[in-house]
Amino acid sequence: MVAEAAQSGRRESRTARPRYNRAMAHRVTLIPGDGIGPELAEATRRVLDASGVDFDWEVVEAGEAVMAEYGTPLPEHVLESVKRNRIALKGPITTPVGGGFRSVNVTLRQVLGLYANLRPARSMPGLDSRYQDVDLVIVRENTEDLYAGIEHMVGRDAAESIKIITREASERIARFAFDYAVANGRHKVTAVHKANIMKLSDGLFLESCRTVAAEYDGRVKFEDRIVDNMCMQLVQKPELYDVLVLPNLYGDIVSDLAAGLVGGLGVAPGANIGTEAAVFEPVHGSAPKYAGLDKANPTALILSGALMLRHLGYPVEAERVERAVRAVIAEGSATTYDLGGSAGTSEFADAIISRLAAESQIPAATSISA
Ligand code: NAD
Repeated sequence: MVAEAAQSGRRESRTARPRYNRAMAHRVTLIPGDGIGPELAEATRRVLDASGVDFDWEVVEAGEAVMAEYGTPLPEHVLESVKRNRIALKGPITTPVGGGFRSVNVTLRQVLGLYANLRPARSMPGLDSRYQDVDLVIVRENTEDLYAGIEHMVGRDAAESIKIITREASERIARFAFDYAVANGRHKVTAVHKANIMKLSDGLFLESCRTVAAEYDGRVKFEDRIVDNMCMQLVQKPELYDVLVLPNLYGDIVSDLAAGLVGGLGVAPGANIGTEAAVFEPVHGSAPKYAGLDKANPTALILSGALMLRHLGYPVEAERVERAVRAVIAEGSATTYDLGGSAGTSEFADAIISRLAAESQIPAATSISA
């Protein structure tokens, strides 16, 4: 879907979608991250290796653990690896609160120009959640807004953060959302803002979305919602919404809310897409208290891997991985603590791999249409 979204615009493809030779292994940068990241990355790598697609993983480390050696949590060779391979799978990385280094996650998105953050939130049978029929796609602008990182103290007792919204970035993300909707048979895009209060910045975001919406008139419906009302609406009637497009900060908050509607952070995947590269990572963070315990849920990173498979042009294999994950969750005997089970990360991954192996006995066309 990610890849299809990239293809569907009337202009030249603006998103990173290298032409891959299916006969060769795909070289992918793997950033395991820290906290629960390494164990989730290992589980995900095993599942993706069992998907039928050949990968050549280039493992590089980023985060606090490399600070002493390189003087930065994001060494140049990590960036070079992603730029060279144009595709990365990434575990979560801890960001110190208050002082310390700048978020590696935010820096990666900004330096690589990964302007679109795609976060699907879809109900799964077997998951304990309030709704069974949620199917939302959150498209979050990834490069500006309050994440531009422009902050300063005003005297000793006041601080200012500057919110940057540009027409260029707003139209680009709106176009990504509409292209995604067209390519994936989605019917509506809702722009989310607070333009009643931030008349200039959010006003410009809304105006840009309206401009782009006019190009898709008759193909995709468009509406807008004020962010506070949107949160209430999502909690009360999420089934009314389809694709949401938001500036960076609201996108971050609303995508966690959407994850909560479908079973929590452990099952929410994400993709960061740009013109030169794409980085696939879960919505959740490094959950340090579970690090090294073989306890955390690998679903979000595995489903991020499925988004990556689609991006690489393997929709059948992506569907297989997603179906295997859904089947193991629905069956319920090999799930992690957050889903009510008692299995560990690796046991959960083993169950998914067994399911994939069983499915590979069935011809692809049969298994996909079943
Ligand atoms: P978090 O997502 O790491 O964890 C919040 C809680 O959600 C955990 O305590 C746990 O109960 C649950 N949870 C999260 N992922 C889970 C999983 N896979 N399986 C089971 N339960 C899971 O959020 P936080 O505690 O606010 O952040 C921890 C660190 O991660 C911070 O340093 C933060 O900056 C960072 N972070 C990184 C990313 C990223 O790498 N993209 C994203 C968000 C947060």
